[in-house]
Amino acid sequence: LEQDVSRLDRLNIVGQMAANLAHEVRNPLTTVRGYLQLFGNKHEFQHYKEQFTLLLDELDRTNQIITEYLALSKNKSIDMKKCSLNEIILSIHPLIQADAISSNIDTRLELGDITVLYLDAKEIKQLVLNLTRNAIEAMSAGGQLHLRTDSNDAEIILTVSDQGPGIPQHILDNLGKPFLTTKATGTGLGMAICYRIAHRHNAKLDIDTGPAGTTIHIKFQRK
Ligand code: ADP
Ligand code: MG
Repeated sequence: LEQDVSRLDRLNIVGQMAANLAHEVRNPLTTVRGYLQLFGNKHEFQHYKEQFTLLLDELDRTNQIITEYLALSKNKSIDMKKCSLNEIILSIHPLIQADAISSNIDTRLELGDITVLYLDAKEIKQLVLNLTRNAIEAMSAGGQLHLRTDSNDAEIILTVSDQGPGIPQHILDNLGKPFLTTKATGTGLGMAICYRIAHRHNAKLDIDTGPAGTTIHIKFQRK
């Protein structure tokens, strides 16, 4: 538990810095993006269509990184409402599928007959997207992404499975620490955010990983 607390403290410092930075950096980025888009659509720049697309993608990635850091901000309030976990998943399913299809990955969605829960829908979306993004990135050679909801007497369970190579042991031992990544362009923040969101929902994150793939269960307490 002590280790958990110091991990959260470290995250909070990172998050607070991000909140200050994001405030200063996001507005100019929005201006730059707006003009890029405007110029990119002009007839005289048709020759540079690809470059404009690349520039916009890079800006979006920058924005995504800021969003990830912001998710770690301590003062971020949580907005718990009675929600359907299934509906949340359905609302982002097209996004996940678009991501998966472009990486040659099948998605299987299996929604159980589960009751509503007190959730922060925005955070749960981010949690699911972080997990599915990792799953898709792990299956560079294709495979199946499986998303499932289920319940037992005590818990409502969200499961994300992939058929990737598994999480390396040295990463698994430290998973949840910020900036831990094996990817050339990874931020190493996705799992730190997942742990934080799970913690805020009083949910438990269980990982089962091996050479045949990775399965992550998020277990919400039924109250
Ligand atoms: P990032 O995706 O930016 O690297 P994350 O915090 O999301 O950061 O993940 C940390 C690391 O954990 C990844 O770089 C990867 O090595 C490992 N990892 C996470 N999810 C999976 C997965 N489903 N399969 C294999 N490795 C994974
Ligand atoms: Mg990730």
